[in-house]
Amino acid sequence: MDITFRDKELGPVWAKVQKGERLSLEDGLILYRTPDIIGLGKMAHTVQKSRSGDGVYFVLNQKIEHTNICVLSCKFCDFAVKKGAAGAYEMTARDVLDRLTPDIKEVHITGGMPADWPWERYLDLVESVHRTLPDADVKAFTAVEIDFFHKKFRMSIEEVLRQLKAAGVRTMPGGGAEVFSERVRKQLFNQKIGAKGWLEVHRTAHRLGIPTNSTMLYGHIETIEERLQHMMKLRELQDETGGFLTFIPLAFQPGATGIKPSHRHTSAIDDLKTIAVSRLMLDNFPHIKAYWVMLTEEVAGVALNFGADDMDGTVGGEKIAHDAGAISPMSLKKDQIIRIIRAAGKIPVERDVYYNPLHLHAERVIGKIPYLNSIAFHAHLHVPGYKVLPVKPRRMGMLSEKGMIDAGLFSVMNYVEQAEQLEPIGYGLATRDQVKSVMLFSKEGWRDLDGKRIGIIDDTATSVRLLRVLLEKKYGITARFERLHGGVNDHSGLDAVLLIGDEALRHQKTGLAGFDLIYDLASEWYEWQKLPFVFAVWAAKRSLPAESKAQITRALEASLEKSNEDLAGIAGASGRRLGLTEMETVEYLTGFNYRLGEREWEAITRFAGMVRELEQPEGQVPERNDLPGSRM
Ligand code: SF4
Repeated sequence: MDITFRDKELGPVWAKVQKGERLSLEDGLILYRTPDIIGLGKMAHTVQKSRSGDGVYFVLNQKIEHTNICVLSCKFCDFAVKKGAAGAYEMTARDVLDRLTPDIKEVHITGGMPADWPWERYLDLVESVHRTLPDADVKAFTAVEIDFFHKKFRMSIEEVLRQLKAAGVRTMPGGGAEVFSERVRKQLFNQKIGAKGWLEVHRTAHRLGIPTNSTMLYGHIETIEERLQHMMKLRELQDETGGFLTFIPLAFQPGATGIKPSHRHTSAIDDLKTIAVSRLMLDNFPHIKAYWVMLTEEVAGVALNFGADDMDGTVGGEKIAHDAGAISPMSLKKDQIIRIIRAAGKIPVERDVYYNPLHLHAERVIGKIPYLNSIAFHAHLHVPGYKVLPVKPRRMGMLSEKGMIDAGLFSVMNYVEQAEQLEPIGYGLATRDQVKSVMLFSKEGWRDLDGKRIGIIDDTATSVRLLRVLLEKKYGITARFERLHGGVNDHSGLDAVLLIGDEALRHQKTGLAGFDLIYDLASEWYEWQKLPFVFAVWAAKRSLPAESKAQITRALEASLEKSNEDLAGIAGASGRRLGLTEMETVEYLTGFNYRLGEREWEAITRFAGMVRELEQPEGQVPERNDLPGSRM
């Protein structure tokens, strides 16, 4: 995208971003120092849109600060007190449960670190929440708290995390990172772990399949260079593990700490720049959060067009930042968050703790699969009056069932199951032979997988069925499937892992540690059936007016035509992020057929028939001739 900059220094940095090249510390300094705040915002917003489309995520969450008693004395902290001091409090598990309501999807637990709580009290707290609200996910304990448990209870960091995970912790918050600078640490929080310790806790969590958030506390005594070095350290760990969900710049609240020279709140310009710079520097982070608690609702709302795609949530009462003088409300109601997101021109996406969309608060939404394989459909897609949201295949089917998607590239089995509501519009994602992005990584050959455990990435609706068809019908064996959530997972104990999309594409090149055999499911199907395999079908709600369907079809055709003129141009940068050369990216994309003809529909009906035979009760999958597409 062309941007006209007032600051000419931004041009070369933007050229690097567009080519998918990584930004350096010097680039970051240019971004931070530019007076062209609008140019900077446009760069970050363009990147944000390429990742999240028009979506902005929020969660119905409840913050729990179980105690404010803390053995440490960080200089900037207005929250912690010593035991017995006025205002000291400790919550029981019952107190915590009394705060929870059935609609909550994330319980966020962090607090002080008292000297006298036994380990069992923390486990009991997590277990009680998990038992009481099984549909909610527990996000608990910062790296600083994990390190405290490790030292106090004489357990390794890994053991602490394993026990918390077994108790019900699903993800970890990103607090306690402050700024990764020894200079700042010595002055402001010298009793806390530094960068090395914080990163090691998160590295261990990711290895155990616990995704985490990350933060940076800015606006006190740190320098701009230190902010950028902080982001680069996070980026390095994300390259290694892929376990960070979001980055949260936390604007320092001066409170009564009296830290000089930061005796006042950060400026809105600094806040927006930090959001935008982080979006551009953290090229491997899926989300950037505008944490309204620190920023205020007004600045957070503007940040949604400066690179942020995540509004945190309703929070339900926050103390740490408010004790330090935050001027935002203690909590927001769901409709207030929805209003802020809509005012920014975005789709409010209610999510779970893994950022899976649960509910869209918008109309006229087109769903796109956020993988490189369908980039030609989206690169130039513009349908007036519609917003676009990237949604992973299985989730697209779920949202469509609720009537929240008007048109989209549906996983073929979701399309088949919803054929009465969905009308195909002629396009899809079909392979001729290999696909490279639906891959089984295995310790065993096919026939030796009989009775074994196979981890299935949560995002799939069709590939999991293809795997079952291959196992049971082609090889005559059965295996036990276990759902893995999107993102990092603990693969120990599994005999094979099914990955799809960009993650599969990345690993088909690098391999997956511990799994030496790699199978391409489309090749397996082709060798067996001598037919292409269709992974996805473009379809629109049957109830949409004919003109709307025609409008979407025309826009898809136009995007495909324009994209095919320059596949390297539209996809080179995305391919590079996945470790592919430009030639490999183009070769991968030209392996797909985007227009569905007779052979593709024959393949769909044959596959759907096999799935129907395997999946009872009968009638769940329409008969071959009931598929609307089969008559095309
Ligand atoms: S910032 Fe955290 S670790 Fe430091 S004193 Fe406050 S509660 Fe304790």
